[in-house]
Amino acid sequence: MAVKRQLSMVMDLNKCIGCHTCTSACKLQWTNRNGREYMYWNNVETMPGTGYPKNYQDMGGGFDADGALKMGTEPTAEDYGVPWDYNYEEALMTGTDPWLRPNVKPTWGANWDEDEGEGDYPNTYYFYLPRLCNHCDNPACLAACSRNAIYKRQEDGIVLIDQERCRGYRYCVSACPYKKVYFNEEISKSEKCIFCYPRIEKGLPTACAKQCVGRIRWIGYRDDEAGPIHTLVDKYKVALPLHPEMGTKPNVFYVPPLSPPKIGDDGEAAAESRVPLDYLESLFGDGVNAALETITAERAKKAAGDESELMDTLIGYRHAEMFKLS
Ligand code: SF4
Ligand code: SF4
Repeated sequence: MAVKRQLSMVMDLNKCIGCHTCTSACKLQWTNRNGREYMYWNNVETMPGTGYPKNYQDMGGGFDADGALKMGTEPTAEDYGVPWDYNYEEALMTGTDPWLRPNVKPTWGANWDEDEGEGDYPNTYYFYLPRLCNHCDNPACLAACSRNAIYKRQEDGIVLIDQERCRGYRYCVSACPYKKVYFNEEISKSEKCIFCYPRIEKGLPTACAKQCVGRIRWIGYRDDEAGPIHTLVDKYKVALPLHPEMGTKPNVFYVPPLSPPKIGDDGEAAAESRVPLDYLESLFGDGVNAALETITAERAKKAAGDESELMDTLIGYRHAEMFKLS
């Protein structure tokens, strides 16, 4: 879907520390009230893991290889994670239970599998994957909406839901393969990340990017050849979309994580990386190996005292320079 300009985000997974500050910033700004309490427009999940909502990668949606829309399934409340109640009365009011604890033993919640990852010692591994709406070039949510309530802004490609037109049919929820549209039961309408457009229009970065402790997020226009998005996505090709096979053409890109070598049975470093390449390719597609090789080569240049535009960009010396919004 052609737009005049496309605002995009790159996140470097080598720098994410899983602090959830981005999620808190988003929640405080947009989703802590009015039926949105259960939503995380931005979330951070541990990979490998079930993700959020639980097992969203198995729920379908997106487009097939011929470009036909595939309707997936809608997550349940349990998939998002239902907050559990505590014995406040007994523990805090009557003192009949010395311990404050959930009323029912919880078995699931958002980030339930945080920091679990995979592998056996000493080859255990995990990394953090922050996620938000990808403001796709080919949004499945938009294609699925029978009310034409979802649109992509010409000036910056941000995908929004017209709240006047939305009737809460939730086709968008099923069609989005990233499960980044949410149904607000209080108003019977669908809602999603708005890429903080009121901030963007004032020249400010999104709340998640502004507050990011690890400085992992760049925001800018894809067509700005002097900007960080073009440098990372198009020039060096080290930033890749999540699940490109879903066919929605995301505008959020990820620098895949480097990892130390596996330790072999002999206790020596093996040739493979700790995070398996085929696992990373299952997330970010065929470009992962070339991206990791480019980063490794540029890192060696920088370590040797040579110039590296790529490493200078990835380091992000000045936070304000990571956002190029004009
Ligand atoms: Fe729509 Fe999902 Fe793409 Fe966001 S990530 S634009 S909700 S298809
Ligand atoms: Fe990762 Fe930044 Fe979010 Fe912290 S604030 S979890 S470093 S993306």
